Order: sequence, then structure tokens, then C-alpha cells
Amino acid sequence: MRWAAWVVAIVAVGMGLSASPVRSQSTGVQRLYIFDCGQGHAADQSRWSPGVNVGVPMDVSDNCYLIHHAQGYLLWDTGIPDAVATLPEGLPGQNGAPSWRRQKTLAAQLEELGVKPSDIKFVAVSHTHPDHIGNVELFPQAMLLVQQLEYDWPLPSGGARFNPQHPVTKLAGDHDVFGDGSVTIISTPGHTPGHQSLMVKLPKTGVVILSGDAAHFKDNWDNRRVPAFNTSKEQSLASMERVADILTKEHGQIWINHDKPQSDAQKKSSDFYE
Ligand SMILES: [Zn+2]
Repeated sequence: MRWAAWVVAIVAVGMGLSASPVRSQSTGVQRLYIFDCGQGHAADQSRWSPGVNVGVPMDVSDNCYLIHHAQGYLLWDTGIPDAVATLPEGLPGQNGAPSWRRQKTLAAQLEELGVKPSDIKFVAVSHTHPDHIGNVELFPQAMLLVQQLEYDWPLPSGGARFNPQHPVTKLAGDHDVFGDGSVTIISTPGHTPGHQSLMVKLPKTGVVILSGDAAHFKDNWDNRRVPAFNTSKEQSLASMERVADILTKEHGQIWINHDKPQSDAQKKSSDFYE
């Protein structure tokens, strides 16, 4: 009879000891924080919805998202440059693009949480428009996660979109950031050549897809409208269908970065989602 061994086993389990280490300590998302990374105002909504709501002005949100994973922090999008917070009149828009203001800096919102810029392990940006990459260099040590196609896409002036000194992992499609399926970059080209979205599996909230600019606001998402300035209408439509399919499969929800009514209804840092 080996019941002595059984006793040892039962006592070990009761004390939380087991042969294999508890993996949950290094896997999974713990919290997601939403930061206010700019407030935009555009004179004509039809810049994003061709032929619809022509001449109707629109306010837009511009969010950044901090994901606290057991292995470290990932920042998704970096918003309008923090320096805009010092401009009394904000940053005027050009050629129909929104004007921008910043009430709080990204740096201040991180500090409020006790998170130092050097604590950020990964910075991933949905794409390289200025309202998403404004503070990448606040995190010079963080590994940048960006699609190769976006990285190599020249500026209209011909220059590079990122500081060539910044550490970078150039992606070719989807990417499981922490290797446990909890945070996955989803390739969603069309708005720009290497646009990407982010799927986050939260323990209580469930699956959330952070849109980037795969859609700019709910009405455009619901009606699959594509802004005239997107680099590919065909890819934009395919990417929206892809995101919709994932949402169905995962019973997830989409959080649209620039949708101000949705954003206004969400919890903002220092509150958080689990
Ligand atoms: Zn954009």
C-alpha cells in the first residue's frame, strides 16, 4: 500500500506545491488602461465617409492603450505628440485633417500609474499617421512592433517614418506578442500599406479588438465605408471583413480608436479593464 505517498501528494497540493511551476504567473493579460492621447475636431466628416454627411463637423477621440501582461507592458498607439499640450490653440489641421488638442500628456498619464517610460517593453502602432506615432521616441528602449510594409513605406517627402536607431521587429502579418495567444497583432492593411489592429484577450471583459484606423467611427464600421484617402479600398474592405469574422468567432467587441461617443463611454486610466 502506497498511501504514505498519497498523503505526501495531498499535502503538497494543499500547500500549493506541485511538480510543475504555476504557468499562470507568466501568461495572460492582467489589465488594459485607456489613455486620452488627443482630442480632434474636423470640419467635414465626409473626409472619412465619401458622399455621406458632407460638410458636417465631427469631434474625434484619439486613444492610446496600455496593456499590462504578466511578462511586461505593451503600449498600443502613442497619439498626438505630447508637445501639443503646450500649444494654447492646439495643432491646426491641414487639408481637411483634424485640428488637435491635448489636455493631458501621455507621459503624465503613465506617471499617474507609476509606470516609467523605461518600463514599456513593446510599443506597437496601428500605422504611421501622425496621430498614432506622436510619442514613439518617448520609449527609445522599447521594441517597436510594426509591419515591414509600413516601416518601409516612404513619407510623401521621401523620408523614413521611424528613427532608424529605434529597436524594431518588422512583422510580416499576424504576430502573437507574448507567445500565449493573449495579445495578437492582426494584419489589417488598406488604410495604409501595413496597417494593423490588436486583439486582446482580457480575463473578465473577454476579447477586444483595438481597431487602429481599420474604421474611424461606428457608422463607417457598420456600413463598411472606406475613406477616399486610404491606400487601398479593396484591402480596407477585406480587413473589415476579417475583423468582423474574428469578432464573431471570438464573441468579441471592437473598440474604435477615433469614435468619440464610444470612447466617452469607456473607463479611462487610472481606471482599467480586466
Ligand atoms: Zn490614420
